[in-house]
Amino acid sequence: MVSMLDLKNALFEGGVVGAGGAGFPTHAKLSDQADTVILNCAECEPLIKVDRQLMVDYINEILSGMQMMVEAMGAKEGIIAVKKSYTASIEAVKSNIGNYKNLRLHILPDIYPAGDEVVLIYETTGRIVPQGKIPILVGCVVCNVETVLNIYQKVTSDTNVVNKFVTVAGLVKKPVTVKVPVGVTVKELIDMAGGVSTEEYVPLMGGPMTGRICGLNDVVTKTTKALLILPPNCLPIRKRQSSPKMDIRNAMSVCSQCSMCTSLCPRNLLGQSIAPNVFMRAIANGLTYDVEPFLNSFFCCSCGLCEMYSCHQGLSPRRLLDQYKGALRAKGVRVPDKPGKGVADPMRDERRVPEHRLITRLGLAGFDVPAPMTEITSVKEVKLMLRQNIGAPCVPSVKVGDTVSVGQKIAAPPEGALGTCLHASIAGTVTAVTDNFVSIKA
Ligand code: SF4
Ligand code: SF4
Repeated sequence: MVSMLDLKNALFEGGVVGAGGAGFPTHAKLSDQADTVILNCAECEPLIKVDRQLMVDYINEILSGMQMMVEAMGAKEGIIAVKKSYTASIEAVKSNIGNYKNLRLHILPDIYPAGDEVVLIYETTGRIVPQGKIPILVGCVVCNVETVLNIYQKVTSDTNVVNKFVTVAGLVKKPVTVKVPVGVTVKELIDMAGGVSTEEYVPLMGGPMTGRICGLNDVVTKTTKALLILPPNCLPIRKRQSSPKMDIRNAMSVCSQCSMCTSLCPRNLLGQSIAPNVFMRAIANGLTYDVEPFLNSFFCCSCGLCEMYSCHQGLSPRRLLDQYKGALRAKGVRVPDKPGKGVADPMRDERRVPEHRLITRLGLAGFDVPAPMTEITSVKEVKLMLRQNIGAPCVPSVKVGDTVSVGQKIAAPPEGALGTCLHASIAGTVTAVTDNFVSIKA
């Protein structure tokens, strides 16, 4: 059994961070206060097909990784949480889970956002994370499937994180899920999927709900889960291209205060103070005498459901909430320390949003096709960003002209800062070192 201290050191040195999108350094999550470790196999966003396939291809590595986490933290149990529609993943778990102590399978409903930590913890344990707080306060540590695979590989074979699994889908000739070295470009990912199938497209790094529009020279990081090539006129792209000024003008003119955005808000349904309709009323009418609707923006998880699904007027509560939250943070305002209701809404079960309906509403049903796993080995060049995760950016320890091998440490966070180490993802020569990245040519 690996001790918690050894596990923490290994994960820091190995560069293990949350691979599901948030990118929190995994060693910093481990705690002896945890009684439950939850494996997040919800994939959360539509069209992403990484974790469900990893669960089939690497089932014993993943279950062993979970067992290691449970034992190292002295937790009571590990919950393997898998969406109901991932039938092959569920079969793989059922066939192997008997070999592991203290692990149990929990089948999740096919809802969005099932992978949001607060939602996932409630679905699997019935516990409600207090608003603005972290899962360990209710005794839970949540880890994504790919993260647990990385933990297993670091502990058993001292393999540092140098690769990433990415689904490439949408307007490409051959949708795939590829295992690529961290630092390959968007353009290379598109080539791996057979190229684009149209002249007119917009690349989106991440899922349709929370991803960001990117350029062809942007690169894969340790948190990249998907590259979607989408039509310029689809809802997820149009939403990201509207101007904040226009968003406010629209809110002033057409918000009917129907409150559907609040009724379906997954955080509000778990008793948190975020109420997007109240916020929209405040900004549309300039109601600044009451700051609560603005401060409550800190309790929004930016899932995007209010603007991509709930609002019948096509308004953008999430984008406006993000903007206000960012501005408050920039002014030094911190997350308010106030309790939520502490109980779920009695209508919550009926108000959860089915994922298939969300995909249809986004206009992406035609892109929800298999994206089989493919391994890509020959990459000529990588650009490794020094900020790949939550915390401080890494400081490089290599210089131009150095020769590096795969997995060699090339950067680390400043002493005492939150972060993890960064490693060469291909063997070759360092061709550039800047404040933001290190480039390596094979
Ligand atoms: S759903 Fe749209 S129209 Fe209704 S309250 Fe929310 S923002 Fe306003
Ligand atoms: S993005 Fe909208 S639906 Fe999601 S948590 Fe924030 S307010 Fe609620």
